[in-house]
Amino acid sequence: MAPPLRIGISQCLLGDNVRYDGGHKRDAFLIETLGRHVEWVPVCPEVELGLGTLREPMRLAGDPHAPRLITITSGTDHTEAMARFSQRRVRELEALNLSGYVFKADSPSCGVVQVPIFNSQGMETHDGVGLFAQAFMAHFPLIPVEDESRLHDPQAVQSFLERALAYRQSRNNI
Ligand code: SF4
Repeated sequence: MAPPLRIGISQCLLGDNVRYDGGHKRDAFLIETLGRHVEWVPVCPEVELGLGTLREPMRLAGDPHAPRLITITSGTDHTEAMARFSQRRVRELEALNLSGYVFKADSPSCGVVQVPIFNSQGMETHDGVGLFAQAFMAHFPLIPVEDESRLHDPQAVQSFLERALAYRQSRNNI
């Protein structure tokens, strides 16, 4: 029997208490559908970066083409630290032969589409990509990635599974 697909996932979606407020975003549907067929590889970029839980929340801010990762209250800029961490972490993930990745929606670190970016007037646009997700997609341009909010029906889950299987097959044939 083929081993389960190995899929990266934003760790808070599995129910681990890694969010800035010490909580999680457990996605029961995802875990009970896709989770039956895969081996998860959890990553929380913000905790692994060393920011800990109960950290100050952050957001994307500034130039929409090169947004910064800034904490909301104190304005601490984590952009460079997250960029360095992401480059190292994606190289580590190479060894795990991932076949896909499910990212938490709307996160300034993990979101893959339509992440809010705030300009200096506090106005918000929705065309950002989380900094870790961006580094991951640049490093693994062919791996199927999905935003968790788009995996909330069985058909979408099936389609993601098929793309992940096809990706693994293509890798094994290289
Ligand atoms: S969205 Fe990403 S950075 Fe934020 S808690 Fe979840 S895994 Fe960690």
